[in-house]
Amino acid sequence: QVTDTLAKEGPSSPSYDWFQTDSLVTIVIYTKQKDINLDSVIVDHQDDSFRAETIIKDYSYIIHLGLSHEIQEDLSVRVVENVGKIEIVLKKKENTSWKRLGHPLENHNSLIPKKDTGLHYRKCQLISKEGVTHDTKLFCLMLPPSTHLQVPIGQHVYLKLTITGTEIVKPYTPVSDFLLSEVKEPVLVNNKYIYFLIKIYPAGLFTPELDHLHIGDFVSVSNPEGNFKISQFQELEDLFLLAAGTGFTPMVKILNYALTNIPSLRKVKLMFFNKAEDDIIWRSQLEKLAFKDKRFDVEYVLSAPTSEWNGKRGHISPALLSEFLKRSLDKSKVLICICGPTPFTEQGIRLLHDLNFSKDEIHSFTA
Ligand code: FAD
Ligand code: NAD
Repeated sequence: QVTDTLAKEGPSSPSYDWFQTDSLVTIVIYTKQKDINLDSVIVDHQDDSFRAETIIKDYSYIIHLGLSHEIQEDLSVRVVENVGKIEIVLKKKENTSWKRLGHPLENHNSLIPKKDTGLHYRKCQLISKEGVTHDTKLFCLMLPPSTHLQVPIGQHVYLKLTITGTEIVKPYTPVSDFLLSEVKEPVLVNNKYIYFLIKIYPAGLFTPELDHLHIGDFVSVSNPEGNFKISQFQELEDLFLLAAGTGFTPMVKILNYALTNIPSLRKVKLMFFNKAEDDIIWRSQLEKLAFKDKRFDVEYVLSAPTSEWNGKRGHISPALLSEFLKRSLDKSKVLICICGPTPFTEQGIRLLHDLNFSKDEIHSFTA
């Protein structure tokens, strides 16, 4: 049950109901919120427990039940956005009438602060693994049919593996395959696949193990986390992306979303910091995009280039930034996203403040 204090502090509590036909059971969540979409709900059915977590601002509304009867593996989720209604459709294993939905498990029918819900994991299968640069790979994981989960733009998940008897967990930011769609048939048909671009550190704890997995092996994937808000794109005119190394990963979905969904957008510029030319992730795809979409430009800055490199050199600096961060109009609305190694990001934020960009104009991706 929702306690009085939480109900007073947070959004008004959702409620749920259920109904059935011969073959289906539908659970309906009334969120009492309008800005609900398919990213807002995470559903799992595993080890005989059914769990649906609906994210409403900084809170989670949990449905958590031991179902009274068996269901088939696959489930589906629909959202009626304008009334904030979520429908989860389960398929009965046997066409019998259910007298009750199930018995309550931990936190069932409660609205709790998101930070108190803990991370939930489901086992995902490795579908493919492809080299992208000499030390980065694109991993494709498949969600189980009994899970509904979409990772929102700008958010990351945790991957978990058991390494010599100990569970190890590290954060990774899913990418979309939109930059690859020209060279490949799009395979992202039903949101069952999650793509990760991951750099393998030979002396690292986690990534060599990940690299050693075989196709068909399992990795646990957590619920998404992160504080990027799509509302930061509202009325946006200039988007500047400062990425270093694999700090490029959050920029992939951001780039795709901004170029497709923000009508006010005039310019998107990516400044991509790497050590050497062969470290640049998806270089030819980025160049193709720049050629195809005149709003997009990419510039590379290398910290350890060969003598043949004619482009920009060095680390992030006031000179590089002041030249790069030119608004397309005097007062245009800007957003600067920055991600990379911690010293890079920290230094970048300091320089951006020195250049008089406000807090609202900067989004940094950190742990
Ligand atoms: P670690 O064991 O952490 O080692 C990394 C490197 O540091 C190795 O070269 C290792 O030899 C060296 N090292 C370790 N300890 C020391 C030490 N004490 N002194 C000196 N050197 C040391 N990475 C991606 O590739 N893709 C992503 O999409 C991605 N998303 C992320 C999202 C978030 C929010 C965050 C915080 C990080 C993200 N990362 C991402 C980084 C990722 O989480 C891991 O940190 C990274 O994969 C390294 O893990 P590892 O265990 O293999 O290496
Ligand atoms: P890297 O070592 O290849 O370095 C790439 C570039 O970063 C360098 O060329 C340089 O320009 C800059 N850089 C590196 N160290 C710097 C320093 N001390 N000061 C200033 N600039 C510096 O990078 P990598 O191995 O690909 O590492 C990427 C980093 O991004 C990792 O630390 C990872 O954790 C982080 N990351 C964070 C997120 C997030 O959401 N928070 C997402 C993805 C990656």
